[in-house]
Amino acid sequence: MGDFPRIVIASNNAGKLREIRAILAPLQIEVMPQSDFNVAEADEPYDTFVENALAKARHASRATGLPALADDSGICVAALNGEPGVHSARFAGEPKSDTRNNEKLVDLMRAHHDRRAHYYCVIVLVRHADDPEPIIADAAWHGEIVLEPRGSGGFGYDPYFYLPDLKCTAAELAAEQKNRLSHRGKALAVLVQKLAAVES
Ligand code: IMP
Repeated sequence: MGDFPRIVIASNNAGKLREIRAILAPLQIEVMPQSDFNVAEADEPYDTFVENALAKARHASRATGLPALADDSGICVAALNGEPGVHSARFAGEPKSDTRNNEKLVDLMRAHHDRRAHYYCVIVLVRHADDPEPIIADAAWHGEIVLEPRGSGGFGYDPYFYLPDLKCTAAELAAEQKNRLSHRGKALAVLVQKLAAVES
């Protein structure tokens, strides 16, 4: 990882930062949140995760002069035609609130028998703000929405995201287990592989 000794993470979401730091910790990369550089959150004006992630990564890289990694993620619910999707963070409007987002989701889901949902994550790494070859990795994590919360781990929609195979919600998983299985964990693993391939 010699080319990227320090990377700024283009997020102020404490839950995401914790997960990204834990997953990248074994690598020889110094990972710094953009808040350490007083970088404000970038706008996320696009309809696709990848466009938003690229915009966030470029913004953080331009502001800091460092390589930047951005994650754009969300939960896509089959019965809601993929919503909240890219709007997951602000599903119930401003200011962002996990509690109100979850209340809105549960209210909407009462009318549906089809409870299938997946988390999706795209991770973008830019070496510099105008990098024409950003490294991009994505992954999904499939489960179902439950109407009663279970567990206190993770963040966001995790207490309502049920994994039939494991018979628990994402919020009931140990942090290491979630990081191994999750959309973000899998996308980061792909990114690390791609990074190694680019460097070799
Ligand atoms: P972003 O910061 O625009 O990428 O917003 C992502 C939003 O999607 C978060 O604020 C959460 O609401 C939701 N989300 C993404 N990943 C997870 C996860 O691993 N657990 C719970 N919620 C998540």
